[in-house]
Amino acid sequence: MGRAAVFATIFNRLGEHYEAREPADADAEAYCELLSTIGDTDLDACVSVKPSQLGFDVDPAVFRENLTRVVGTAAEHGGFVWIDMEDHTTTDGTIDAFESQVRRYPGVGLCLQANLKRTPADLARLADLPGKVRLVKGAYDEPPDAAYTDKARIDEAFRDLLVGAFERFDGGVALGSHDPEMIELARTLHREYGTDYEVQMLMGVREDAQRALAADGVAVYQYAPYGTRWLSYFYRRVMERKENALFALRAVISG
Ligand SMILES: Cc1cc2nc3c(=O)[nH]c(=O)nc-3n(C[C@H](O)[C@H](O)[C@H](O)COP(=O)(O)OP(=O)(O)OC[C@H]3O[C@@H](n4cnc5c(N)ncnc54)[C@H](O)[C@@H]3O)c2cc1C
Repeated sequence: MGRAAVFATIFNRLGEHYEAREPADADAEAYCELLSTIGDTDLDACVSVKPSQLGFDVDPAVFRENLTRVVGTAAEHGGFVWIDMEDHTTTDGTIDAFESQVRRYPGVGLCLQANLKRTPADLARLADLPGKVRLVKGAYDEPPDAAYTDKARIDEAFRDLLVGAFERFDGGVALGSHDPEMIELARTLHREYGTDYEVQMLMGVREDAQRALAADGVAVYQYAPYGTRWLSYFYRRVMERKENALFALRAVISG
């Protein structure tokens, strides 16, 4: 019989592309408080931060400084910090920041995007590091020299990356995807390679599938945005899929 269908939570405070340092510092502080609160409970929860939320657009050094604070707090409380990936102009700075953090504390994960042509090389570069990697298809409009724009080609790249990640990653693989085909492939790869993996889905999307996977023993994480700065989140979800309007609206209203 399957275990109780319980999923863990990834908290993401809404907010991105700050042009001043103050809101970036304030969000870093809010994440530190949240990590310390989670550490005092038995909640199975972690956080996911966006580089531009921690000050990347102000100066990549501000992002690195704030990330160091957040990861330092996670280390104190045994927490986990995911780093979301934004558009391709931020990829190098985000990977560098991940590398330096994960070398001092393994409770850090990085998102990589299948639509970017560079990602297979990035995945190979990160394979020997601790920490986890989250594979996603990619949510940002990118230029064709940097990214595949054809959906079938992105799906093919995603499948190849999944195989590579399950073959090489000891730290653990996460799929940030609602795609039943990709989730089934991950389950098959897990049986073949034994690599730890988790499925991450947005709060409010395919919740029946989330429950069924969890009941079947798969580690399921719900990505739960919270806070008041919902406009960019809402816009990205609707651009991905117009049917997302309703769930995104529910997520931001309840958040
Ligand atoms: C937890 C999480 C974290 C993410 N983090 C990032 C990040 O840091 N950076 C980034 O660029 N992107 C991120 N994304 C977004 C990601 O890149 C995709 O844009 C988004 O997940 C849509 O792709 P998909 O694989 O879910 O499915 P799609 O390719 O959009 O759809 C494939 C199939 O999945 C199913 N499906 C998809 N959406 C729905 C839905 N709303 N309702 C019902 N069925 C659905 C359908 O069967 C559909 O045919 C994240 C996504 C998740 C879930």
